[in-house]
Amino acid sequence: MKKVRTGGGWPAVAYTFRKAKEAGGLLKLWHAMRSKNACKTCALGMGGQRGGMVNELGHFPEVCKKSLQAMVADMQGAISPEFWNQYTPEKLQRLSPRELENCGRLTQPLLYTPQLQRFQPISWDEVYKRISQKLRELAADETFWYFSGRSSNEAGFLLQMFARLYGTNNVNNCSYYCHQASGVGLTSVTGSGTATILLEDLDHADLVFVIGGNPASNHPRLMRTLMQVRRRGGEVIVINPIVETGLVNFSVPSDPQSLLFGSKIASLYVQPHIGGDLALLTGIAKRIVELGHHDLPFLESACNGWPELSTQLEEASWEEIIEKSGVPKEQIDALAEKYAQSKNAVFSWTMGITHHVHGVQNVQAIGNLALLRGMVGRPGAGLMPIRGHSNVQGIGSVGVTPKLKDAIFDRLQDHFGVSLPTTTGLDTMECMEDAASGKLKFGFCLGGNLYGSNPDAKFAERALKNLDMLVYLNTTLNTGHAFALARETIILPVLARDEEPQPTTQESMFNLIRLSDGGPQRLEGPRSEVEVIAKIADYTLGDDSPVDWKSMHDTGRIREAIAAIVPGFEKIATIADTKEEFQIDGRTIHEPRFPTPDGRAQLHCHTLPKLASTEDRKLRLMTIRSEGQFNTVVYEEIDLYRGVPRRDVVLIHPDDIKRLGLDLSSTVTVSGPAGTLSGITLHPFKEIRPGNTAMYFPEANVLVSRQLDPVSKTPAFKSVLVTIEAD
Ligand code: SF4
Repeated sequence: MKKVRTGGGWPAVAYTFRKAKEAGGLLKLWHAMRSKNACKTCALGMGGQRGGMVNELGHFPEVCKKSLQAMVADMQGAISPEFWNQYTPEKLQRLSPRELENCGRLTQPLLYTPQLQRFQPISWDEVYKRISQKLRELAADETFWYFSGRSSNEAGFLLQMFARLYGTNNVNNCSYYCHQASGVGLTSVTGSGTATILLEDLDHADLVFVIGGNPASNHPRLMRTLMQVRRRGGEVIVINPIVETGLVNFSVPSDPQSLLFGSKIASLYVQPHIGGDLALLTGIAKRIVELGHHDLPFLESACNGWPELSTQLEEASWEEIIEKSGVPKEQIDALAEKYAQSKNAVFSWTMGITHHVHGVQNVQAIGNLALLRGMVGRPGAGLMPIRGHSNVQGIGSVGVTPKLKDAIFDRLQDHFGVSLPTTTGLDTMECMEDAASGKLKFGFCLGGNLYGSNPDAKFAERALKNLDMLVYLNTTLNTGHAFALARETIILPVLARDEEPQPTTQESMFNLIRLSDGGPQRLEGPRSEVEVIAKIADYTLGDDSPVDWKSMHDTGRIREAIAAIVPGFEKIATIADTKEEFQIDGRTIHEPRFPTPDGRAQLHCHTLPKLASTEDRKLRLMTIRSEGQFNTVVYEEIDLYRGVPRRDVVLIHPDDIKRLGLDLSSTVTVSGPAGTLSGITLHPFKEIRPGNTAMYFPEANVLVSRQLDPVSKTPAFKSVLVTIEAD
């Protein structure tokens, strides 16, 4: 398969027409995309009351393949009742993630038990009885509640409140496996766990760092912004072990000049070895200080820890930095010189930074670098984690974490006159471990694919199978429904965001609260997440509960509670009437005063981790997402921007194929700390440096151990030591 020379472009335009055909015509797709609902895919944020395909600055058209893929998937027809007679879980396991996604929409509640040997449609009333009966049998701390970042603030708030009033804090969300290190790391630097800037700030930046991510595939609309930085004479620095096509050149379809001639994105592209980011970031910081380009007045007036960091940078040796980053000195110098010349720099990153055992330290090192030149705490400059799911930040803000923030805890108790559990709640991996050990008996998954997003896939399957009951709320099928089936598994079909009967809200990565109008139901059967949660709560806790769960079917009622309980969300109470979307107070940092106890930012010192050795035929592997997927959801088998025609491949440099004596004509077995994958095709890939390799997430999770960043509890999906042997 020939690799394209640029991202986006005419292939994206052609793809739009292909998707329109799938959706039943261009007009039908157009109406769906223009509805006043937040984009269902990433957190960059489109849609809402500004209208579909409009970004936070009011620019139109803003649309990408990811948003089209998610919309067209929701516009599929229903899975037929006969399907369940034919497709047992064993047969479902033979379908690829893409084939499962394309089976159609879930429309009937389904029950699976080993005795039934297949999924069997079941009535909603029976479902509520089964779940509530199981919950009444169990102790609350024998249960866990997992949330995807795609659900609304209302569904997230309601379910976390139900779980706590039921008696447990085993409440967590998908960010534990992706950006938790950003939240924890940023909070330790600025006092706030989210971006310090607005989308508008990027219009004033003259330098944007893109570190450990491939937004050309996963957040494509950011490419227009980066194109404009370059057009203004600004710089885009990319730090990534892989040279990604769309980060070198991207043709923005909505810009005629770019569509016709392409647009250069990266002005400097540096490839550290996998796991070498912390050393590289420390090296750039050291060089900035050597060049005298650090902002001493800012460091002394607005930051803590400068003397310690100054000493660490001085003492760090270039030999160590070069060895532990894999980047030659002259490239580090070039990075520092470009940074030193910038007036307004924005630092952005994704999971190439967070998916390491030192993920939090990576985020802190980015914070150090930004603070060194006073690039936080003013317009046009700052820190911007590029978040995943469209409402992953909102879910966290409304309380979907094991431990509630004190203010939310107190206000929730006061508002409803309840006493909440004070037990230590479990995070996502702790829930998996306790499911495997039998301590947990019940799991509830609001959207997402907990099984698919777990490292050590065989363990994840065992753990979830060890539960008495597992409840899934989803719109379509995924690998979890095929592999992770408990002694009793219930799948509940839910409505998509633009099918909701009532307005809902979402929070973008720029801390903007959007209002989604919802829309007409496409298929008979699915129900709103809020309705299902309120019903289960009512069936389980009944009329004795201090909360009137029947009234909680009303998303307006839930927003009143969020407004009273979650600091910064006061305006959400009236958003459905005012239609006024709003920035959450206190999140954007445009002045050198930080939401920390003393108002100062915090610098951090780090011990540089060694690179994993590639002696003894070893390679450093990182799991990656293809251009044809979003998180665990696979929409296309091919990875267009990397020129990879299939997913059961290992991307490996030709020098390593030679070093390991492998032969392209035979398949290989890749062995990692948690398992092996055989029958894998070698895909020669010069865009990654020798010694490093890559395979697709979630299939490669079989190889990935359950080793975590001790601070963020995020698995190290991007630093796995593997061996590759011919089959
Ligand atoms: S970049 Fe993200 S928010 Fe924007 S249209 Fe694409 S998927 Fe949606």
